[in-house]
Amino acid sequence: MARGHVRADGTHPAPAEKAHARKIGDRLARRYPEIGTALAYDSPWQLLVSTVLSAQTTDENVNKVIPVLFANYPTPDDLASANPEDVESIVFSTGFYRQKTKSILALAADLVDKHDGDVPVDIDELTKLRGVGRKTASVVLAEAFGVPAIAVDTHVKRLSKRLGLTTETDPTKIESDLKALFPRSRWRQLSMRLIQYGRDVCDARKPRCFECGLIDLCPFPDKRMSE
Ligand code: SF4
Repeated sequence: MARGHVRADGTHPAPAEKAHARKIGDRLARRYPEIGTALAYDSPWQLLVSTVLSAQTTDENVNKVIPVLFANYPTPDDLASANPEDVESIVFSTGFYRQKTKSILALAADLVDKHDGDVPVDIDELTKLRGVGRKTASVVLAEAFGVPAIAVDTHVKRLSKRLGLTTETDPTKIESDLKALFPRSRWRQLSMRLIQYGRDVCDARKPRCFECGLIDLCPFPDKRMSE
């Protein structure tokens, strides 16, 4: 009898599909044995805020504003009662600063109101916080708490599709498909490895298939075999 997680369509992956995924997972693990977020953080609270700020910008940009932000507003309580204009001027360089300020102030207020300022270790509770989507919640669970979780961002979405790990386009369904294919012990680092491989090799517009160590496992039809 089939066991483990089911895919988004309710089916279980065949053994050959799991073997395909395992080979991909093994090679990525060899390439990136130790991998974690490049966002700098000292606590789950800080990572939660950093991850929200990291939308549409680089981790490097976020890391520059984080020390200033948390020096001024160390706790959720402090940020919840901050003057939005002061926060906007700090996070300005991360882009979309008005929306991001609104999000982090709202999520700080929700944390204070619903969880006494503590970050919950639960994806359903995390995604109930304003400004926190499933991807952000999964990053925090995996990185700050070491809980098995798979965050599906644009890189994970693209690579999963190209590598034949999913046919879905909805991130939550892709997450289910990946969870069905990979053992729980692999979940936590899988997203980070796929993201890094997307940045290093499997670019959205110019994938470097000619130097890709996964090429024999990749069914993507439009491979790019020269610069
Ligand atoms: S062969 Fe090309 S498309 Fe496939 S994973 Fe490698 S870089 Fe990406």
